Amino acid sequence: MDFDLSNEHELIRDTVRAFARERVAPVAEELDRESRFPYELVAEMAELGLLGIPFPEEYGGGGGDTVSYAIAIEELTRVDSSVAITVAAHTSLGTMPIFLFGTEEQRQEWLPQLASGERLAAFGLTEPGAGSDAGATRTTAELRDRQWVVNGSKIFITNAGTDVTACVAITARTGEEEISNLIVPNGTPGYEISAPMKKLGWRASDTRALSFVDCAVPEGNILGERGKGFRQFLEILDGGRISVAAMGVGLAQGAYDLAFAYAREREQFGRPIASFQAIQFKLADMATEIEAGRALVYKSAWLKDQGRPFAREAAMAKLFTGELSHRVVNWALQIHGGYGYMDESTVSRLYRDQKILEIGEGTNEVQRMVIARHLGL
Ligand SMILES: Cc1cc2nc3c(=O)[nH]c(=O)nc-3n(C[C@H](O)[C@H](O)[C@H](O)COP(=O)(O)OP(=O)(O)OC[C@H]3O[C@@H](n4cnc5c(N)ncnc54)[C@H](O)[C@@H]3O)c2cc1C
Repeated sequence: MDFDLSNEHELIRDTVRAFARERVAPVAEELDRESRFPYELVAEMAELGLLGIPFPEEYGGGGGDTVSYAIAIEELTRVDSSVAITVAAHTSLGTMPIFLFGTEEQRQEWLPQLASGERLAAFGLTEPGAGSDAGATRTTAELRDRQWVVNGSKIFITNAGTDVTACVAITARTGEEEISNLIVPNGTPGYEISAPMKKLGWRASDTRALSFVDCAVPEGNILGERGKGFRQFLEILDGGRISVAAMGVGLAQGAYDLAFAYAREREQFGRPIASFQAIQFKLADMATEIEAGRALVYKSAWLKDQGRPFAREAAMAKLFTGELSHRVVNWALQIHGGYGYMDESTVSRLYRDQKILEIGEGTNEVQRMVIARHLGL
């Protein structure tokens, strides 16, 4: 067993760490306060090749593996969750269905602009009446004169409405008991995108409600085989969970870094609070949980890279890191005392950004359902 990262993994970690520290950290608070989408950072990340890490170079991607991708997402989240989710939703959710299920023609049409980061992609599964029960999709697509005519709505869709978004991959009912995937390009008549939704956290990320009214796209915009859409989207979610789990580790690491530094600097009763055993024990627990969570994330990413089954481990990693990041950021804020509760403290932003990690891409309860199914229950 080899627990060392390869030179390539070390390189991506150092590159993204430096980018996050030098370019993201100075503006993170302002972007959050103004709920402003980070266009400049997205352009810089495209330059660095961070918006298509796991896609082959022939399509404009980075040709990296899942471990590299998880490391990049972890390092970004350590500093700013909004920037990290923009990359993760674009890569694992928006672009991946086109890479995995698209025809060669669809790949040639979409991947070069998406994997290079010139444009962004979104993934539209959730509907007002279909969240955890994602198979309850009500949106319909009817084939008329060689066009799919889409009617329905989606909610909470990341990256759907930015100025650089190219398309959304959606699920729609194409028959009574049949769900298929379709690519809907932004700007298609009948496809309306709401104003950005206001949120507790991830404030600089783009979250929208979508509506489709007689929105017609070419018959060729179906992704993969007709009727296989639900199974395809479950596969996409399995992979996406690795990146959300990497976000849990990154957020917890960022919170730990802040708490560690603060505990050594803040003095009460005439000495640094880090000298009190109660604080040391908290930091020791935080470091231990982060180490365990990171091991689960890397293992699920490694399994995927080996072409082996990884869905169980990805769900475990997502569940465990969602919950550990909750505990760690709570302890980190506690160590900051009243200063941590103030809006201008970085740890308060991390605290708000954490909660969604237990909801998005399957709630904690849904992860337990997935794990139980894999246990044969
Ligand atoms: C900021 C943000 C970004 C998002 N981005 C996207 C995106 O890009 N694309 C996309 O498609 N979706 C996206 N989502 C949607 C997200 O995946 C859903 O919110 C999530 O799957 C939960 O669905 P729901 O909100 O409808 O909750 P519900 O399914 O209504 O769940 C409510 C509660 O009931 C529990 N529950 C439900 N069913 C069961 C059960 N059988 N047993 C036990 N408990 C149960 C849940 O765990 C939860 O605690 C995003 C959400 C947010 C908030």
